[in-house]
Amino acid sequence: MNLSSAWLGEDDSALISIEDKHQLLPAVADAFTAMQQAAHAAGQDIQIASSYRSFDRQLAIWNRKWRGELPLYDHDSRLLDTASLSDTDKVYAILIWSALPGGSRHHWGTDLDVYDRVSIQACGGRFDMVDSEYRRGGPCYQLAQWMQQHLEEFGFCRPFLTDKGGVATELWHLSHTHSAKAFESVRSQQALYQHLSNAPIEGKAIILKLLDELYPRFVLNKGIN
Ligand SMILES: [Zn+2]
Repeated sequence: MNLSSAWLGEDDSALISIEDKHQLLPAVADAFTAMQQAAHAAGQDIQIASSYRSFDRQLAIWNRKWRGELPLYDHDSRLLDTASLSDTDKVYAILIWSALPGGSRHHWGTDLDVYDRVSIQACGGRFDMVDSEYRRGGPCYQLAQWMQQHLEEFGFCRPFLTDKGGVATELWHLSHTHSAKAFESVRSQQALYQHLSNAPIEGKAIILKLLDELYPRFVLNKGIN
């Protein structure tokens, strides 16, 4: 695996398949399976909703949101009118819930989104992956509580546990702490700029113009202060 392209979602050669449709690094898959067994023993049916995503997958999501083919939501999960937004507003609206292609932790095979399958099914099967589902009274609240207690035992953390003014709180997003470090350390604004410059991405001009601010805020998720 070439780390300098892998962090951008352009090298999946080190990944293995898990549960048919998901891909993770071997060490991450092992850690997740161990955690899943412990969770099951505690009555939590933890399952993967999303894991590795390539640059092209993230690019397709970005472009569909830009064109209004996928809905955009504000911080409180309220639907936005994509057509009425300026290009700049559209960039910020997409970035609340979706990463910049090349800037997603889902490119690494170290990060995954999880939910409680049995609890969701017991509630009729509807699942939107929104904050309220992981809060008191929501179907994934018990799982969120269990994870708070036990994630670290299996080497995981939640990088979006608090909203720092960049990426919104995502209680469902887990990262394998040790495995992610290698990717975190090779990230580079200049490399991302180059990669996006050469990609067929909607809103390219405004993204590149704003990248000095977008990179620390939404890629490094360092917050705004
Ligand atoms: Zn995620």
